[in-house]
Amino acid sequence: MRATFITAPGDIEIRQIPEPTLREQTDAIVRITHSCVCGSDLWSYRGVKEVPKPLQIGHEFIGEVTQVGDDVTTIKVGDFVVAPFTTSDNTCVHCRAGFQSACQNLGFYRGCQAEFTRVANADGTLIAVAEPRPEQVRSLLACSDVLGTGWHAAVSAGVGPGKTAVVVGDGAVGLCAVIAARVLGAERIVAMSRHEPRQQLARTFGATDIVAERGEVGINAILDLTDGLGAQAVMECVGTREAMEQSIAIARPGTCVGFVGVPHGVQMPLEPYFQRNIGLRGGMAPVRAYLPHLIELVLAGTIDPGLVFDLTLPLDEVADAYQAMDERRAIKVMLEP
Ligand SMILES: [Zn+2]
Repeated sequence: MRATFITAPGDIEIRQIPEPTLREQTDAIVRITHSCVCGSDLWSYRGVKEVPKPLQIGHEFIGEVTQVGDDVTTIKVGDFVVAPFTTSDNTCVHCRAGFQSACQNLGFYRGCQAEFTRVANADGTLIAVAEPRPEQVRSLLACSDVLGTGWHAAVSAGVGPGKTAVVVGDGAVGLCAVIAARVLGAERIVAMSRHEPRQQLARTFGATDIVAERGEVGINAILDLTDGLGAQAVMECVGTREAMEQSIAIARPGTCVGFVGVPHGVQMPLEPYFQRNIGLRGGMAPVRAYLPHLIELVLAGTIDPGLVFDLTLPLDEVADAYQAMDERRAIKVMLEP
């Protein structure tokens, strides 16, 4: 089969490798119908994360089950499935508490920008969806990571009815956090974005205000919008020190910043949290916990997170997909085999 490899920073190529096979009786093999490039894939592409040797890459996909092990009971051959970006048993104490991303049997995919993938703990990981309509497919793909992660930012930040919510970061996750804030009832949703097409999409998803400025000016703009009080639910969807500092500065005392951007070398003093009683909550999203609800919202037509895919390319052009996202020419690229 064809599979995407990152061989060095900036170097993406398709290689021919054997199709995956069942290793455990709890595994499933999925023929990938759609996959995509994640903002976190760009950390390796940009050389921020090391690439010690050529590695298969990609962790977001949907597809059709082609094989299951003897111990798989809820998923069968032919099922169309949505998968979170981690595998989990869905039965251990952490899974039962809703933190499948901390599962005692947590697993990661080897690379899903490919034609097939093996899924460990298929029963605890995959969710079968009956025949989605063609226009819903891209939104189901968005559920596998960006929507679930944006949702986690909103839940962690304590978004709720009547509140003013602010999203820091206008990548696909930040835009999906806007969707989450709307569904969870925020009264006012501020998207911080400098890019016009992303501002527009944020408005489509439910943003009521846009703040294009960053740093001090951006912080003051949020304080102006909130009578100097700060926002009641801040969602940090970037992972840099600047974004984190901005998030703390605009959070109202006594509230939580929900953070889901993968932190890269962020070191911060604790004083601002202490002095203003700001909490920090979030981390790697337990997408599996949210998936049933998110899939329901997509199938009901309540949300359309698939709009974050503004470019679709064949798998063979995956190198262009990375380039387009790296240069911010595309918000998120969908790949079709
Ligand atoms: Zn578990």
